[in-house]
Amino acid sequence: MAECIFDRIRDRRAAGHIVADEPDVLAFLDSRPLFPGHTLVIPRRHVAHLADLDDPIAAAIWEAGRRVAAALRSALGADGAFLALNDDVSQSVAHVHLHVVPRRHKDGLRGFFWPRSAYESAAEAASIAASISAALAPRP
Ligand SMILES: [Zn+2]
Repeated sequence: MAECIFDRIRDRRAAGHIVADEPDVLAFLDSRPLFPGHTLVIPRRHVAHLADLDDPIAAAIWEAGRRVAAALRSALGADGAFLALNDDVSQSVAHVHLHVVPRRHKDGLRGFFWPRSAYESAAEAASIAASISAALAPRP
């Protein structure tokens, strides 16, 4: 099976700002966030398509996404979150990933995934990842 960029981030062979590293899932910052703190939750094991996920792993992804959303509120002062998962269409990396995007009232977001931007520096991204990670509740 071909290795994807998310596998390399998981194995620390590509740069990534890790928010959570757990037995079933990994969470890290999207390198081109909608808003700072935009996090991706992935199954640790490479699975390309939603339909191929085992149910317990699908549940673990969703459960971690809920905890990340809560952490975005407490760590970054987000008012809420937007969670989304593209399956095949608009799926830029063929490894299942749940987007967890911090939202603020009147943040200007009118569509999905348009105003992407880069972090100003790796240090800024590392600081944001550390804040979310510190605010993350432990696994139930
Ligand atoms: Zn992969």
